[in-house]
Amino acid sequence: MNIIENLISGKNRPGTRIDVKYLVIHWTANTSKGADADANRNYFNRKSCVIGGVHYELGSNDKFRAASAHYLVDDKKIVRALPENEMGYHVGAKSYRHPSCRNSNSVGIEMCVNSDGDFAKMRANTVELAADFCKRHGINPATNMIRHYDVTGKDCPHFYVVDPAGWAQFRNDVAAKMKGEVVPAPKVEKAPATNVQAEIITKPATEAKPETNTSLPTGVLKLGDKGAAVKMLQNALNSVYFKCGTADGIYGAKTADAVLRFQKQYGIKPYDGIYGPKTRAKLAEVLK
Ligand SMILES: [Zn+2]
Repeated sequence: MNIIENLISGKNRPGTRIDVKYLVIHWTANTSKGADADANRNYFNRKSCVIGGVHYELGSNDKFRAASAHYLVDDKKIVRALPENEMGYHVGAKSYRHPSCRNSNSVGIEMCVNSDGDFAKMRANTVELAADFCKRHGINPATNMIRHYDVTGKDCPHFYVVDPAGWAQFRNDVAAKMKGEVVPAPKVEKAPATNVQAEIITKPATEAKPETNTSLPTGVLKLGDKGAAVKMLQNALNSVYFKCGTADGIYGAKTADAVLRFQKQYGIKPYDGIYGPKTRAKLAEVLK
């Protein structure tokens, strides 16, 4: 078994020590080509994201919650993104079905379902990893290796939520592997055809930037200003996802707010929502 350690950093890795009692199995729900272990690890390592045209920093919006798991498994490799004794954000929820499994006492494995991968091989790699993990941590796969679904009710991993027998088989295979038995590949199991419920938010890279005139005005612009320069600024802000509504040439509350958000994101002080030379310089850089 070949584990590649490529630890993430930042807010998805709080560094909190955990006492492992559960192993939680997930799927990435991303069947896109190339959505393999590395791609999902890098997704966990991201710092910011664009949702519906609005730019968010990690943790700044409920829609963009922290997400991370310890392992990502595809048909070719196993990537360790978090140390086994550190907390990840993989089962957090507002309410739980499970009485005691939480982020603070569990390790998460994400099964990658990229359509250019071999599902059976990915599953075999996951069985091997899970068996090794359970053995080392004294976890009984029949009771303490559970699905994300068992913790919060989420449809994850979808193929084991809709197929309890397949899940029972997976558990049996892990138990058999722990005893050193040879685990045959299951006959009928295959990857789901489509995304059912995205475990992972669409990657920012997939969102095309709108085509706009992005030249920048000089001087100072502030609340109440009007004209072509304001419109130019609004187009620029919109194009880098600091949305300020229709570019109408009026520096209103929305435009001031977009400038303020931009300043906060890039540490341009004072945070006053007034467009000046420093904001202009950073905006020019971001527009490139
Ligand atoms: Zn999950």
